Amino acid sequence: RAKENGRNTYCFFTSEMQRYHARHLLLENALRRAIENNELSLVYQPQYSLQQQKLTGFEALLRWQHPELGLISPGEFIPLAERSGLVIPLGEWVLKTALAERASWQQLTPAPLTVAINLSPIQFRQPGLLTLIDSLLHASQLPAEMLELEITESAMVEDPAHAASLLDAFRQRGLRIAVDDFGTGYSSLSYLKRFALHKLKIDQSFVRDLLSDADDRAIVQAIISMAHSLELDTIAEGVETAAQQALLQQLGCQAIQGYHYGKPLPAEQARAFIQQQLQT
Ligand code: C2E
Ligand code: MG
Ligand code: MG
Ligand code: MG
Repeated sequence: RAKENGRNTYCFFTSEMQRYHARHLLLENALRRAIENNELSLVYQPQYSLQQQKLTGFEALLRWQHPELGLISPGEFIPLAERSGLVIPLGEWVLKTALAERASWQQLTPAPLTVAINLSPIQFRQPGLLTLIDSLLHASQLPAEMLELEITESAMVEDPAHAASLLDAFRQRGLRIAVDDFGTGYSSLSYLKRFALHKLKIDQSFVRDLLSDADDRAIVQAIISMAHSLELDTIAEGVETAAQQALLQQLGCQAIQGYHYGKPLPAEQARAFIQQQLQT
């Protein structure tokens, strides 16, 4: 019987693993052609300053609509793109598209709206990144201050010397740097004083139960107070209710992003959102 069980277990795992690999292979091959097939798009989620009480910019978030597989979440395809190296051409497409969209907002408003894009740690290590950003910024004719790069703690701690010099080069150009998902990494906090950063994005996992969980409130409070001392801006992610917004404001958080203020919007709707916000 043991033998039988063993064989069943073995069969079960192989079929599960085959399904898992099949899905990965399918997605990876499809992703290879996603750019040329026009299956990618960006949605833009508005960011709101609690201090200035106004729209200050948008985060660009990647969407992949496959003709047969439907909408695939970045949570599934970004890790895949990172493993296969596809995140390099994908990331280039994101930068180019987001900057072109941001440039088109110049005709809507003189407001210094920022566009934030997510940089994968793989992109961060790519030797040509700075040259790429320089040439795309030049082509867009936008001031560098309008582009914000979101990086995670892990991108910085892997090779601190490289990170420090790259972040210095970004700062010299006037680019803005935000630490995404702040508080979820395992790194020491010493990088906060060592690296040229502008903003901490308080991870949504601390915001979710902010009203009911005293520990989450203590953590958010500590992040805000530390950011303040280090002269870094703070923005809370995943703000879904007016009550969360009010508490964050009370705690001294500078800005919010989340479904409460606005969901991620296709480019055309983001333009309408800008116009509507400027009128009120
Ligand atoms: P992230 O950069 O931390 O983005 C925030 C995620 O939270 C987004 O998920 C956004 O749609 C979602 N979100 C925003 N407001 C709320 C809210 O009020 N409640 C909840 N529950 N969620 C909210 P999304 O778009 O699925 O992206 C997931 C992750 O995929 C991003 O996390 C980012 O790490 C990655 N990603 C997205 N676009 C890109 C990209 O262009 N390049 C790279 N390298 N990564 C990307
Ligand atoms: Mg982000
Ligand atoms: Mg985040
Ligand atoms: Mg995240």
